[in-house]
Amino acid sequence: MRIRDQFLTAVGVTALCVNLTLPALAEVTEQDILNDAKTTGDVVTYGLGPQAQRFSPLKTLNRDNIKGLVPAYSFSFGGEKQRGQESQALVKDGVLYVTGSYSRMYAIDSRTGDKLWEYNARLPEGILPCCDVVNRGAALYKDKVYFGTLDAKLVALDQKTGKVVWRKDIDDFKAGYSYTAAPIIVKGKIITGVSGGEFGVIGRVEARDAETGEVVWKRPVIEGHMGELNGKPSTMTGQVNETWPGDTWKFGGGATWLGGTYDPESNLVYFGTGNPGPWNSALRPGDNKWTASRLAINPDNGEIVWGFQTTPHDGWDFDGVNEFVPFDMQKDGKTVKAGGTADRNGFFYVLDRTNGKFISATPFVNKINWAKGIDEKGRPIYDDAFRPGDPAKSEDGKKGKSVFAVPSFLGGKNWMPVAYSPDTKLFYVPSNEWGMDIWNEPVSYKKGAAYLGAGFTIKPVFEDHIGSLKAIDPASGKTVWEYKNKAPLWAGVLTTAGNLVFTGTPEGFLKAFDAKTGEEVWKFQVGTGVVASPITWEQDGEQWVGVAAGWGGAVPLWGGEVAKSTAGINQGGSFWAFKLPKTVATR
Ligand code: CA
Ligand code: CA
Repeated sequence: MRIRDQFLTAVGVTALCVNLTLPALAEVTEQDILNDAKTTGDVVTYGLGPQAQRFSPLKTLNRDNIKGLVPAYSFSFGGEKQRGQESQALVKDGVLYVTGSYSRMYAIDSRTGDKLWEYNARLPEGILPCCDVVNRGAALYKDKVYFGTLDAKLVALDQKTGKVVWRKDIDDFKAGYSYTAAPIIVKGKIITGVSGGEFGVIGRVEARDAETGEVVWKRPVIEGHMGELNGKPSTMTGQVNETWPGDTWKFGGGATWLGGTYDPESNLVYFGTGNPGPWNSALRPGDNKWTASRLAINPDNGEIVWGFQTTPHDGWDFDGVNEFVPFDMQKDGKTVKAGGTADRNGFFYVLDRTNGKFISATPFVNKINWAKGIDEKGRPIYDDAFRPGDPAKSEDGKKGKSVFAVPSFLGGKNWMPVAYSPDTKLFYVPSNEWGMDIWNEPVSYKKGAAYLGAGFTIKPVFEDHIGSLKAIDPASGKTVWEYKNKAPLWAGVLTTAGNLVFTGTPEGFLKAFDAKTGEEVWKFQVGTGVVASPITWEQDGEQWVGVAAGWGGAVPLWGGEVAKSTAGINQGGSFWAFKLPKTVATR
């Protein structure tokens, strides 16, 4: 019996009158997932739709009435495990599912915040998460809710009870594999990547039968590695030693740690791939495919349909994992089936999503120096003065020439997802303006040990701000407006047909902006840094907004001088729900 049921039994009819709707859980169907962007009463996917535009057609809440948006409840994740909360919640039939730090999941009553159940993964000693013990969200399908854990396992839970239905190993956590992204569901399959790019793991994308958890296909992203389909070897990715010399491809990295998006129209799953291993680029001459890339994969068989490498022969940890968001672009009177992505390397790319053809790349941060620009084929024009030097060419062979490169390895944009509004036709990009001193060192691969061969210190580029939320016109590449934030931005973005853009700040605010002008129109202090992705939904005729709160993530761990700018921010772990009461909305 669920806690909620027990509660209702105890208090009887009065409670039933107060709680007008009991959670009667209908199965989450394929159609629910495909239509998620249009259906305002639920959020059943990471990204508010498989294309992950993070746009809601809800417009009850707007810039004029948003001052009436008030907290409805704050649900605590409890315990002592207060670390970065980067989760995007899901909500269906009056139940809200949200994951927490240290691989926890909660189901709560979406109206009251009452806890229905909690799942707490028992994590073994010796897990190797690189960048805080975060989780970014769950997936819903039929009667189950899925998420990945820091010990590289995928777990399917019963939506009603939180009981484990199945639990499968993604890979060996002792080799550096872990899992933090939200899985996606495509045609009855659950599709995931792997985390562990700083440990020389081999990035891959894989699909399992969502009912049983059995692997259907695996697609390694590094050339020379063999794929799998229905339990048999399928095709090799690329060819051995095409863009990697010697044995370097065996520990090539390319972790697919941020999950994927799906475009039903072209039947393609898009995954980004992380940095090559090791960071020290002198140890692996060549383009190092497919690291720092976007790949389009056929979800039916796991074959790569196209690949686009944003940073060939990366030398700065410019992971190419950032989400690829399908959208239709009007250009020269034509509709282009495009996809947009804001890369760690500081450029915003628009590609043809059907074939990966390069359309444009424009800087979305102010001071890029590692590349002079992007050529007509989409390849960076490197400035070798800003590539860290080869330690073998130094006097003692221990430390290569140090350079100050911009952006820093934490990226012009990191994991925090953008939003795209088909109303304003703008991308809202949570970016950061920072650089780094970076130098290379000798390194060799050792299982379960950091495989970097580099040292670094992150530094701000401007005195007054690091964080910068930008509205970018993908057709022109121009920045239409910018909001500057003192601390680095690390939260996802949401936009609505009510002409609003939401995001959070480390300083503890959930903020709303006018989507057309960037004017700040609302903020609320939640008492700890906000580094999660907000959602909005409608229930009982009212518009709700929710976000997980809890400071952490990579910045305080890796941020160098920048981490100092966030010292003193208190940790936390909670989910905040806000609503615009009917009386305010109709006034
Ligand atoms: Ca929906
Ligand atoms: Ca990386």
